[in-house]
Amino acid sequence: MTVLDHVIEIAKDAGFDTAVPLDPKTIVLHEEVREMCAEGKCKAYGKNWTCPPACGDLDHCRSVVEKYSGGVIVQTIGQLEDSMDYEAMMETSSRHKANFMKFAENVLSAYPGSLCLGAGGCTVCEKCNYPEPCRFPEKAFSSMEGYGMLVSEVCKENDVPYYYGQNTIAFVGCCLFG
Ligand code: SF4
Repeated sequence: MTVLDHVIEIAKDAGFDTAVPLDPKTIVLHEEVREMCAEGKCKAYGKNWTCPPACGDLDHCRSVVEKYSGGVIVQTIGQLEDSMDYEAMMETSSRHKANFMKFAENVLSAYPGSLCLGAGGCTVCEKCNYPEPCRFPEKAFSSMEGYGMLVSEVCKENDVPYYYGQNTIAFVGCCLFG
């Protein structure tokens, strides 16, 4: 079994609805995405070790991403009753977080040094300890957006949908290895 097939198997076992190959060469890191983080709408900018600026500037993120030769995109897809179905959105978000933590733990155990990026900053602690030392560095993962990725673009470039139709929501993460 190849590393790619193994990581996809780990993703499926973790509970993701979708796990497909990601070619790291398709990844473009955008200053504009980081500028959206800096607007502070999610209130994590400058307050969480896994978010900008603490996760490193874009040059640092590029130097990390460029190291890898393979990858996988993972998705958790939720069905909503309507566009205001906040409960189903939160349930899908929780499911994605649980899937991601299991996935990242198993990938890093099999392939140490891999880069796992989730959806949104780390929420392991009720309040991040930033700027004091991270309490659980082994559980703290940055997000694709935090690294400057436009998630819809990464999905498109790798032939996987980002939008699954009316009254659906998709949470996306990825892993780079090799
Ligand atoms: S584990 Fe806690 S301290 Fe570390 S980044 Fe996550 S929320 Fe912050």
